[in-house]
Amino acid sequence: QVKSRGKDGYCFFDSSMTVDSSERLTLERDLRRAISEGELRVHYQPQVCLRTRRITGLEALVRWQHPERGLLLPADFLPLASETNLISEISHQVLKNACEEVGQWIAAGHQDLRLAVNLSPVQVEHPLFTERLMSQLRQIGFPPANLEIEITENVIMNDLEQVSHTLRELAGHGVRIAIDDFGTGYSSLNYLHHLPIHTLKIDRSFVHGIRSGNDGACIVNAIIAMAQGLKLEIVAEGVETQDQLDYLSTSDCDLVQGFLFGRAQPGYRVAELLGHQALPIASSA
Ligand code: C2E
Ligand code: MG
Ligand code: MG
Ligand code: MG
Repeated sequence: QVKSRGKDGYCFFDSSMTVDSSERLTLERDLRRAISEGELRVHYQPQVCLRTRRITGLEALVRWQHPERGLLLPADFLPLASETNLISEISHQVLKNACEEVGQWIAAGHQDLRLAVNLSPVQVEHPLFTERLMSQLRQIGFPPANLEIEITENVIMNDLEQVSHTLRELAGHGVRIAIDDFGTGYSSLNYLHHLPIHTLKIDRSFVHGIRSGNDGACIVNAIIAMAQGLKLEIVAEGVETQDQLDYLSTSDCDLVQGFLFGRAQPGYRVAELLGHQALPIASSA
């Protein structure tokens, strides 16, 4: 089994192969320091309701404020973190910090605000994951129903038995489950009606392919139609242009997420956005 598998099943492995070993050692040492010194940050990208144009959710995305190299993206350090098992500690910190921060906004009046958190395979495959998560949420006072976890199809297919057990436990506690990058993994659609899935996130490669009448649009239409039939919520990822938004607005897509509405940003910026909910986030078609 390739432990360094990333969300695409191979890209993390490839990128790690190109890093030479001294560079890797430096990165690993730096990453350990980052974890213990609190250099990791959670940024949040808004998820916007297509109908109301309001922010209804936030996806937590990890960043590393490196003292010399500046703000690093997940692609710069998650591959190595997955190989060295530092991913568990990173994921723990992300979840804790995000729940604490967003939990405050929920308590301050944004009762329905949803927090989406990406899980790595090692987390979902751990038999005690649900138990630990629930006790963490209790400690923080974060309502489980406001949490959505994001996993990819590959994570499900890799260990179907353990993962479906965990997903049922999570759903039993009211936690929502989203399939991230939907349509890009190696999977069978069969799991969709056997597992407690609440949301499909259409991968941005399909959204970028939207132009009426072309293949990208056909795939987006098909995913949305299927999701409707299965009563799943649909999030379109990577919405960058007004054209893409216009197209999605005429479809039955529920939520949109992408640079058009805002990149992932630090908590204090998002708190400002939430405070200005009355302002339109993007003009409608
Ligand atoms: P993802 O979960 O699919 O997250 C969406 C990625 O697309 C983010 O990249 C986001 O910044 C980017 N994105 C959002 N809107 C647009 C857009 O309009 N155009 C384009 N081109 N990109 C857009 P980011 O933050 O670099 O994260 C990359 C991946 O790293 C994530 O993909 C997720 O799989 C993983 N990741 C991020 N944070 C965490 C974490 O805390 N834990 C785990 N396990 N994985 C994480
Ligand atoms: Mg995600
Ligand atoms: Mg996503
Ligand atoms: Mg995605």
